[in-house]
Amino acid sequence: MNAAIAPGAAIGILGGGQLGRMLAHAASRLGFDVHIYTDEPDSPAARVAARTIVADYHDHAALAAFAGDAAVVTTEFENVPADAAAALIAAGAIVHPNPRALAIAQDRLEEKRYFAANGLTPAPFAPVETIADLRAAVHAIGLPAILKTRRLGYDGRGQARLESDLGLDQALEAFAGAPLILEGFCRFEREVSIIAARNAAGEFAAYDLCENEHRGGVLARTIVPAKCDAAVQAKAVAEARRLMQALDYVGVLTIEFFLMPDGALIANEMAPRVHNSGHWTIEAALTSQFEQHIRAIAGWPLGPAARLCDAEMENLIGEDAERWAALAADPTARVHLYGKREARPGRKMGHVTRLKR
Ligand code: AMP
Repeated sequence: MNAAIAPGAAIGILGGGQLGRMLAHAASRLGFDVHIYTDEPDSPAARVAARTIVADYHDHAALAAFAGDAAVVTTEFENVPADAAAALIAAGAIVHPNPRALAIAQDRLEEKRYFAANGLTPAPFAPVETIADLRAAVHAIGLPAILKTRRLGYDGRGQARLESDLGLDQALEAFAGAPLILEGFCRFEREVSIIAARNAAGEFAAYDLCENEHRGGVLARTIVPAKCDAAVQAKAVAEARRLMQALDYVGVLTIEFFLMPDGALIANEMAPRVHNSGHWTIEAALTSQFEQHIRAIAGWPLGPAARLCDAEMENLIGEDAERWAALAADPTARVHLYGKREARPGRKMGHVTRLKR
């Protein structure tokens, strides 16, 4: 196991978004410096970090320089190019989570196969590359179904709902040859996520299940605790623990599930990182997901994940952030703004957490 990294060392974060920014806040509170590596000038994380390298994710010389200064390197977005992680490791960096976990999470087909192999239950699925594959998959899985790109889909992008056998050719053509996966449509009761942490010593901690509402494919609101039986919570925790052990995972990992009317949990996807549905932990848990991730990757003991009270988190998307003055005057609102210069539609600009007694 890695020795604990002492305060004063630098933690490297690949990615400059709001998750990197909130990780940097947590790391600095524990006495670490944060170095950001991002391809975006003027990123939210860079403006709260000790040092930033702005370079392409394929720039191996810049990655090696970054690796040389950091006691450990982590990531704050999913689609870290595989060669970036490999270049960091070749330059001597310790990288958490490990590249295998990143690779599995980047490919919906590999991810679903891995879920199934480790006792989680994905929606029925089949790989699709040709029209013959698609017809066979629709025949096996039934309709409605969802056709998704295997890679680079997020927030509902890169997917199409199929309702009838007519128009399968056009549906396939719209994806312009990208490798796809067909998934059975799940008539879920609610969407929930489990956020859990593991360190190299095998210590494990999980937060209470979060209930998530999406609007236009983007997370709009998270409520904790999720409305579900204790047995559902226990099952989600057991599945997260098993998956993280199998992956030899170090850091925070999130699994998004569909909770079915009969209490079954269908594993939709995993995010190898802190997650938007865990922002409530900043105020409403003994240890935030951000501190927990830093503790895990630095080889520290995990903190207690106990929830202090019920909570509700609302994302401020696009022009929602223009409400900042009213929210600042609202004593029930804990306001977080990410410092993004431009409020584009659909862009996550901040969030608000309200504590419920
Ligand atoms: P994803 O990109 O896989 O996270 O999907 C985005 C959203 O689409 C999910 O949060 C669900 O609301 C919906 N969705 C995705 N896959 C399915 C499915 N197999 N059945 C029903 N709804 C789905």
